[in-house]
Order: sequence, then C-alpha cells, then structure tokens
Amino acid sequence: MAKNNFVQKKIALVAHDGMKDELLKWVEKNRDKLSKHKLCGTGTTGKIIQEQTGLLVERFLSGPIGGDQQIGSKIAEGEIHILIFFWDPLEPQPHDPDVKALLRLAVLHNIPTASNLATADFLIDSDFFENDYQTIRPDYQSILKEIHADGLN
Ligand code: PGA
Repeated sequence: MAKNNFVQKKIALVAHDGMKDELLKWVEKNRDKLSKHKLCGTGTTGKIIQEQTGLLVERFLSGPIGGDQQIGSKIAEGEIHILIFFWDPLEPQPHDPDVKALLRLAVLHNIPTASNLATADFLIDSDFFENDYQTIRPDYQSILKEIHADGLN
C-alpha cells in the first residue's frame, strides 16, 4: 500500500467550543504534516488555529452562523478531501441541523472524517494522508439523468 506520490489535500478543521483545545493540541502535535496541505475551517476554530500555530487557515463563517454549511458545500463541490470535525458529544448545539448536514455530506461524498482524537491519529498516520487516494464517488449525474429520462421528476 505504501506509495511515494505526494498529493496535497485540502483539510477542513472544525471544533465545537468544548473541543477546541483538543483540536488545537492535535494540530500542534501534527504541525509538520499539516503544513504541507491546505487548511480551512470554521471561523473561530480557524482563527484560533492560525493564531496559535502560525499555519495559514482559510476561514469560513463561524459554524453557528453558516460555516458548517459552507464547508458542506465545498465537500459537495469536491474541494475538500479530509474533514476533522471534533463535535461535542456532551453539549447541545443551536446549529445541530447544520452539524448533521455537514456529517451527512461527508459520508455521502466519501470524505475521510475524524470526529475524535483516535480517528484523527489513525487518519494522519495513514499513507493516504500524503499520497494519492482515488476517492470513489457515486455518479450522481448519471443517476439524475436516469431519473429525468424516466420522467420521474
Ligand atoms: P466555530 O464553529 O469554529 O466558528 O466555533 C464551529 C462549529 O460550531 O461548527
């Protein structure tokens, strides 16, 4: 499985307030590996990571005011390759529907997603983190064409 074909990824970083320290520590620990890739994140998460680590983070809106949806739309457009999303399992969120939508799109588009530290460690230690990975994505266009051809919409 080992390949030596570096491919830069775009990695989205998101953490709820109760999880931001944990994500920041993970980014600091993995700074060298992450610095080779493009990073983006929701507003507050991105700001903290950029300020604390010096890594450049493209920032979207804060999660509760639309940032999760922006990241979801980038996943749908094929622009984000990995999602590190430390959502808080102990704290209800006002934007819970957005959180669910983001996680749904990550599954739908077959994006490697880490929602906790252990999974993030597994992901970053994978050969695929730095190398080529051919993501299998469902062919929604032909599915849509079939639906239109059958006059079902
Ligand atoms: P934040 O958003 O980084 O702006 O705090 C995270 C979230 O709640 O999705």
